[in-house]
Amino acid sequence: MIDPVHRKHIGFRWLALAVLVAGMVLLAGCSGVGSGAGEGSYDDAGAGEPTAGAQQADVGKGSAADTAQDSAPGEDSETPELVAAEVTRVIDGDTIEVSMPDGSIEKVRLIGVDTPESVHPDKSRNVPYGDIASEFTKNYLDGKTVGLEYDVQERDRYGRLLAYVYVGDTMFNEILISEGHASVSTYPPNVKYVERFTAEQTSARNAGNGQWGYTPPDESAQEKNEESAQGEYIGSARSYKFHCTDCVWGQKITSNNAVYFANRDEAIDAGFAPCKVCRP
Ligand SMILES: [Zn+2]
Repeated sequence: MIDPVHRKHIGFRWLALAVLVAGMVLLAGCSGVGSGAGEGSYDDAGAGEPTAGAQQADVGKGSAADTAQDSAPGEDSETPELVAAEVTRVIDGDTIEVSMPDGSIEKVRLIGVDTPESVHPDKSRNVPYGDIASEFTKNYLDGKTVGLEYDVQERDRYGRLLAYVYVGDTMFNEILISEGHASVSTYPPNVKYVERFTAEQTSARNAGNGQWGYTPPDESAQEKNEESAQGEYIGSARSYKFHCTDCVWGQKITSNNAVYFANRDEAIDAGFAPCKVCRP
């Protein structure tokens, strides 16, 4: 026995439930369209088909997973949305130039990492390790087709694209850190992987990888070694005079004309006369 007032109340509850369900369906539909568009932009660019396939499967599984991912931004186990590009030039360890799907050329600064300087206009900021890092990036990325993942900001104040750069499933930014070629460098709000990067850096440091275990060569020692390898005395094939290697006249001899002798007798036997200034 239900009185009219109570019946009206039940009717209202059913209506509310129906509205809620309709809302959820609508939401689910929207997020499905969103992920479809993302997949398209990667696919059209002609990048790695296995990845595109995996994304297709995700779409098939239903939009519930996508919605869950949206609500948990910390969870990055999902395949990221990538834009395919071709690396046309490596500028230094953390900056590359790419050709985009539309044919435009863009400079890309890798997010979250900083490699020692190698091409800085202020030469005092360039360090030996900069060249090593630069060489590593060149070997790894030059000429490759890569996937670019953006964070919150698409460009920095110099107009460069900001991206995580993938070769297949491997994120190169992370490789730079784990190999010790770069240190973690974060500019909020682009901090999507900062925790992962920081952990990688800690293990790279502990293992003494790359720059963490690197001592720059002693250049003066190296020069001395080269000198002694070349000989104690230097002669000129033009003047047929020979000098101590530290003689100012000896140092003026061009490399084309320079002849080195291990000892004095060797020079004299070869028909060279001792310099009258340094008296070798
Ligand atoms: Zn001399």
